[in-house]
Amino acid sequence: MPAGVYLHIPFCKSRCSYCDFATDVYRSGNAVKRYVSALIKEISSFRSSNVAIDTIYFGGGTPSLLSPHHIESVLEAVGRQFDVSHDAEITMEMNPATVTAESLAAYRDLGVNRASFGVQTFNERDLKLLARGHDANDARTTFRLLREAGFDNVSFDLIAGLPGQSMDDWRRNLEEAVAMAPEHLSLYLLEIHEGTPLGEQLRAGRRPLPDEDLAAEMYELMIDTLEAAGYKQYEISNFAKPGFESRHNTKYWRMKAVYGFGVSAHSFDGRERYANERDTAAYVTKINARGHAEVYRETPNYASETAFLGLRLNNGIDVELHQSIFAVNLASQIDSLTSNGLVEMIDGRMRLTRRGMLFSNEVFAEFV
Ligand code: SF4
Repeated sequence: MPAGVYLHIPFCKSRCSYCDFATDVYRSGNAVKRYVSALIKEISSFRSSNVAIDTIYFGGGTPSLLSPHHIESVLEAVGRQFDVSHDAEITMEMNPATVTAESLAAYRDLGVNRASFGVQTFNERDLKLLARGHDANDARTTFRLLREAGFDNVSFDLIAGLPGQSMDDWRRNLEEAVAMAPEHLSLYLLEIHEGTPLGEQLRAGRRPLPDEDLAAEMYELMIDTLEAAGYKQYEISNFAKPGFESRHNTKYWRMKAVYGFGVSAHSFDGRERYANERDTAAYVTKINARGHAEVYRETPNYASETAFLGLRLNNGIDVELHQSIFAVNLASQIDSLTSNGLVEMIDGRMRLTRRGMLFSNEVFAEFV
């Protein structure tokens, strides 16, 4: 399988209240220029040339804050260094109200053929709670612009389990998303990170903590609603119309090589994982001084990671094949996890049950 390339763009219009990603508020064109030039330098210093890739993913941050001119220079650098397949999936994360008809048309002309669209919620109160910096109509308008620009492979991100969010709120979100008919949906339960404004409000008791039982019911409703609308769940948090599964993200779950560039980018080259500096200014300085900004490297435990990453996917893992490749015996894990109703065996494959998807961390802990 060809590899993938991930490009991290660490700029956002404002900072969302729950976010702990490596991202800075977009302030000046100069900071962006310096960053893009460091990113191109890092790509051009990559140790091998002509590695075959069939996915490119602009993540962030908000990559759609970058001008088409900057996106073009980055894509050209990737094209010089890698052997990019003619039908590569090229995804860009986009947030509502960060694009125009002109910028979308220009991204399309550059070959961007998939949009990962950060809707999160259509509820105005929740958009304010999350400090998303846009309203629901911005999401609706941007989606219309995406379609008009010819984006026929769009994924929505939605978040469930927000403090104060009711089952009806979540149902309305799902119904509106389904009515808009994107090709793919990624739906997450809210993760609370210490040190973020929302994390602090919850810790100080100024907001109710998300209710775990309600979040579990929301998860069930999400699966039922999306399956009834013709989406197939192919991973714990991801649903797609047939043929629209994310080619790029599937590489992570199948432990295929993905080379990451940019601040905080992570890579896996098929043998080792490594990661870049998390601070944007330090990243730029290190790239300019020595061509790389690596701060961390490890050799993963292939047997356990293949098991728990494979289990994230709906078709699970082929137990016999896994045992023979890694010379391990999974009998005791299978016994305990099936008796707790967390996994099931179907045609020699171990798969998560719905309960196992909800308590996936307990399942994965068995393989660490
Ligand atoms: S848009 Fe995304 S990356 Fe940017 S601050 Fe909000 S959650 Fe974080």
